[in-house]
Amino acid sequence: MHEQLKQIPQIQTLLETTDALDLIQRFGHSDVVSAVRARLQDVRKAIIERELSGNRQVIDKTFFQDVAQSLEEMRENTLKPAVNATGILIHTNMGRARLAPEAAQAMLDIATRYSTLELDLASGARGTRQDHVEAMICRLTGAESALVVNNCAAAIMTCLTALAFGRDVVASRGELVEIGGSFRMPDVIHQSGAKLREVGATNKTRISDYQNAICEETAVLLKSHTSNYKIVGFSSTPSRQEIARLANKTGRVFVEDLGSGVLIDLAPYGLPDEPVVRNVLKAGVDLVTFSGDKLLGGPQAGIIVGRHDLIDRIKKHPIARAVRIDKFSLAALQATLNLYIAPSKPVERIPILRALAEPLDDIFTRAEALKERLHDQSGISVEIIETKAFAGGGSLPMQDLPSFAVALNCSTLSADQLSYHLRNVEVPIVGRISQGKLLLDMRAVDVAEIETIASAVLSVMSK
Ligand SMILES: *Cc1c(COP(=O)(O)O)cnc(C)c1O
Repeated sequence: MHEQLKQIPQIQTLLETTDALDLIQRFGHSDVVSAVRARLQDVRKAIIERELSGNRQVIDKTFFQDVAQSLEEMRENTLKPAVNATGILIHTNMGRARLAPEAAQAMLDIATRYSTLELDLASGARGTRQDHVEAMICRLTGAESALVVNNCAAAIMTCLTALAFGRDVVASRGELVEIGGSFRMPDVIHQSGAKLREVGATNKTRISDYQNAICEETAVLLKSHTSNYKIVGFSSTPSRQEIARLANKTGRVFVEDLGSGVLIDLAPYGLPDEPVVRNVLKAGVDLVTFSGDKLLGGPQAGIIVGRHDLIDRIKKHPIARAVRIDKFSLAALQATLNLYIAPSKPVERIPILRALAEPLDDIFTRAEALKERLHDQSGISVEIIETKAFAGGGSLPMQDLPSFAVALNCSTLSADQLSYHLRNVEVPIVGRISQGKLLLDMRAVDVAEIETIASAVLSVMSK
């Protein structure tokens, strides 16, 4: 072992080889030094762990190939497009809603140029970025006022910080939701500087529970859409109208976090439990918060709609500045909202809505096209199976959407291995494994992506 360790050359000697000089030309001196050093460390480790056989060259041909590969990987963008064949349409790990082309174009248009972001063209003076979307949001939701921030979590924190700092927020024990990624309602309330007053029980909360909790300290009655779970059986909560009446009578603010939040009724497309923002406001809720990149189908954003006087107070609070929306998201949001305005048909133009509403036959056609493409590939068997897709993004897990998947069964690779390899091609393909097979659900897969999937499978199989 010591003999081999002694054979390891000085780093300076290695850096003078033609292989190294080539790499320095391409990648620069300091990155090559770090990469060579890291690779030497691997070699040393292999010798010590006796993984390098005694008669092999310590530094062989592969040494600089490995160095080159690590330098290339360092330069690759790790945030890149991927194919979502999971069957979960709003997949938080995969970037949630895809934008409509109009929204993507709007983003691109303002990205490399100056823009009218905060410019009042009439006076030439400073305007507000909110002006680009506020009127349109009000028109689409019936709200008096609107404010757009970074995301929905920020929207809730902004509302509570501005309206309930140092005071009480009353919320039902049945609605203290965690939406994942360490976002838990009790923590958010706490972080807003407010005190949580829990009322009721997990399965039952009555209007009298809210009523009894209201005291001098109470600022906000908070309702949260329990979007990712449902309490069924012996359970009940007061209606929005009841809470709104109580808030109104006692002079408290009624805030509802909708999470996804939809602008049009999605019941015809299999999502009957998603409350439409306009109806929630009509029921008497003072402020409603919802996301831009879930079922709305736009960019990441948090939208607050409701009473003019309250939104005015929130707008003036420093936290609103800290969580303000960026210009790219604002451009994409404006363009997305435009697609909701008649005569545009949002269900045809907004990708997430189109995916929800798509007829099963069309999904089957894509599954068949993929199957056809892989049909005579040896070593892999391909079949089309019925599956269930899900809206995701906190929409009810029980509400599934019928779908079709292409199931791959490989003779030389396990489903796990095949899945690993397909995730590690140039455009990663992400499916899901069920009963020993890799399923590629076609509901969220575009026609144009069929070829991407096919060539990825072929390249994995030919290795
Ligand atoms: C998703 C969700 C949020 C957070 O929305 P982001 O835009 O991701 O910050 C908040 N509340 C509920 C109920 C949600 O489903």
